[in-house]
Amino acid sequence: MKNKFAQIVFPLPIDQAFTYQVPSELRELAQVGCRVIAPFGHRRLTGFIIDFKESTDLKDLKVILDVLDSVPLFSNEIIKLAKWISEYYLCSLGEALKASVPSIFLQASKKFVEVSTDQAEVEAKKLVLSAPRQAQILRYMVKSGKMPVDQLKKRIGAKSLISSIIQLERKGMVKVEQILAKSKANPKRQIFIKLITEEQNKDGLIEKIEYLKKAAPKQAQCLIFLQERGENIGQVEVMQETGITLSSLKSLEKNNLVELFEKEVIRDYYQSISFEPPEALVLNQEQAQALEQIKTAIHNEQFKTFLLYGVTGSGKTQIYIESISKILEKGKDAIVLVPEIALTPQTVQRFRAHFKEKVSVLHSAMSWGERFDSWKKLKDKEAKVAVGPRSAVFAPLQNVGLIVVDEEHESSYKQSDAAPRYLARDVAIMRAKLSEAIVILGSATPSSESYFNTQTGKYHLLELTRRIDDVPLPTVNILDLAIEKRMSGKKDEPIFSRELSHKIEEKLKKKEQVILLLNRRGFSSFIKCKDCGYIEICGNCNITLTYHLRGRLLRCHYCNFSKKAPTICPECYGVDILFRGLGTQKVEEALKKQLPQARAVRMDLDTTSQKWSHDRILRDFGQGKYDILLGTQMIAKGLDFHKVTLVGVINADVGLLIPDFRSSERTFQLLTQVAGRAGRKHLAGEVIIQTYSPRIHCLLCAQNHDFKRFFYGEISERRELFYPPFGRLISLLFRGRDENKVMQAALNYAEVIKSIQGPFKVLGPTPSPIAKIQKKYRWQIILKGNRNKDPGGKAMREAIRKAEVLYKNEFKIRNVQIAVDVDPVTLI
Ligand code: ADP
Ligand code: ZN
Repeated sequence: MKNKFAQIVFPLPIDQAFTYQVPSELRELAQVGCRVIAPFGHRRLTGFIIDFKESTDLKDLKVILDVLDSVPLFSNEIIKLAKWISEYYLCSLGEALKASVPSIFLQASKKFVEVSTDQAEVEAKKLVLSAPRQAQILRYMVKSGKMPVDQLKKRIGAKSLISSIIQLERKGMVKVEQILAKSKANPKRQIFIKLITEEQNKDGLIEKIEYLKKAAPKQAQCLIFLQERGENIGQVEVMQETGITLSSLKSLEKNNLVELFEKEVIRDYYQSISFEPPEALVLNQEQAQALEQIKTAIHNEQFKTFLLYGVTGSGKTQIYIESISKILEKGKDAIVLVPEIALTPQTVQRFRAHFKEKVSVLHSAMSWGERFDSWKKLKDKEAKVAVGPRSAVFAPLQNVGLIVVDEEHESSYKQSDAAPRYLARDVAIMRAKLSEAIVILGSATPSSESYFNTQTGKYHLLELTRRIDDVPLPTVNILDLAIEKRMSGKKDEPIFSRELSHKIEEKLKKKEQVILLLNRRGFSSFIKCKDCGYIEICGNCNITLTYHLRGRLLRCHYCNFSKKAPTICPECYGVDILFRGLGTQKVEEALKKQLPQARAVRMDLDTTSQKWSHDRILRDFGQGKYDILLGTQMIAKGLDFHKVTLVGVINADVGLLIPDFRSSERTFQLLTQVAGRAGRKHLAGEVIIQTYSPRIHCLLCAQNHDFKRFFYGEISERRELFYPPFGRLISLLFRGRDENKVMQAALNYAEVIKSIQGPFKVLGPTPSPIAKIQKKYRWQIILKGNRNKDPGGKAMREAIRKAEVLYKNEFKIRNVQIAVDVDPVTLI
């Protein structure tokens, strides 16, 4: 009999499908890819049908309670892709499927039903025998009128409820309305909250916060949050971020600490973008040659991966656009992955200008409702081009012919914090392979792995060596801070060398713009007692606390813990507290002192936590409202600024000190990207890189815009140490609150995995470089595999699967989580 037994997986870390019986009334509705409600242990869970069986030897099967979709949520293609993800990234199929849809599909959404025929009584009578449950529902609905499905569930039970409603809907007897609560219900006006600042506050805000920390910690937390953010923030966000209740907010208002006010808000930001017609561009010769090869591949309709290596400003985006046009002509769909930070309205505008409403944007800053709408447009074939960050690789398009991964080297394509720990670039390539599609990976600073793949013939290299209109790349000077310090005769670390100060002033005089990069936020990276050397450290994370000027707080950048900065050393009561290490805030302050007339704006995590604030700063800078843009790596991407002629890197060493095998690659990429911001058509650009290590390979290569030299140096180092692409890494992270247990778990696991022989080495266990985050201790084991003996890494993954079972059977250490990360982007 058809569809009698279903194979179901659950979005849990259990890598197994379970067989359930499909009751006859659900057999028609149930399809592969549909969500169901099924009993699991003592609970009822949402699971996914991945297959059917004709027969089974299993006895006493449990029965599916309900089917939730009338059209499968997961296509066969996505199920295949999810299977690969679960196999490769060592997670369960359910977890992989879960990651492929917006989270709203796994949360209870609010649905309303109502009767939509005046023949309901008659119809109900007809259904009594063939479908008694439907008849019951229909009758009940006639009496009750429109009501939420949840309520209906309480009144008449959950069994087959949704599937019956779906069937009644198909027969035109009821109407279902989905309310995606939040967003849709959002009024155009919202309540915002403003802090009444220290100056206006006669009782002293800081004292008040200290007092509230004991009396009403949530209120204190709320004030600190507002203080840190320094902007007016929506009430909902404040409540979500700090967990404060409405009544506590009101009491803050009554006590004159905050002000609540109403403000207009825009719901769909992208909607406000005009559909300006695109500039008509004639491709230059290099662009035309690259496009020609892509077109040939599109014509051949066979899977192929291109690496488009083009210097900054060489016109890569235009190639994406023309390739997408070609794919659409073929009647196929396209996906464009962009790092979230670069997904600004300007970027969207470029695609919308060409493809109009065929473009659907997925962005995590969008509300649930907006995201759901965008997703639905793709699923319903209204849109054919999906643009978004890493999760857009799962866009529900039917016939993907092209996937573009812009800035392919970006580490934000990796999901590191939760399973599946996938790299969207590699998933994109797999998805393309499954549907015989073309992939274009684009970058001015390709990852060593990708460039290496062009040498082995796995990817096909396309090069754009020149900027559009032959704008020259900027000249780059490296400035030795050690010499600068000696010359200046001062004790303090220099922030701006004389050369850099001089250049900034010169540019400002000429009404040109300046970008300053320092990849560390906050004021100073730590504070230290001059007498005893005491350094304040986060109790949760074992790392130094960063001093933030606003509110004079010490803040942990890993767990967000904060406390008031001491003015007296807690160890020796000394009063000389030194602020050591630079952060963007300190640079901003120094800038104000030195160049009070300059209009400077700072962009880092602390100034951009609000929706679109990041985009607003860039836009204002682009329009000339500021002279200087100062910030962290955020400023290195995205926009073309036509008047920027100077880029200053305050301290290039920040990232090099991180103990990670990718740190020099990251530094090279960051410096090259930010340098690419300098100089446009009629204005030559220059770059000054300040550093204490002026002779390091990655700096010298960035100075000469020499990616290839960087690559050959980097790759020979990696070859020696068996790092990717020569070796394969899998990291196992053990986390828990009890240090001994974490250590014991790691030791036990190591013992197990070492007993399994294979073409890989086991490194560790050792405490992680960051040994504690958010009160959890961290130990790690790293597996390094030999690519020659085990090219696909299969043996390594097998070993881990085996080890997991052995470990679970032999040792039962509770409260230690193990996170498996295949191809980790960082080892700290
Ligand atoms: P990349 O993505 O490689 O950094 P872009 O695609 O952003 O470069 O191109 C840089 C600028 O050059 C953009 O303003 C773009 O509109 C323009 N541009 C691209 N191709 C051409 C062309 N063939 N002729 C003139 N301008 C072009
Ligand atoms: Zn911390």
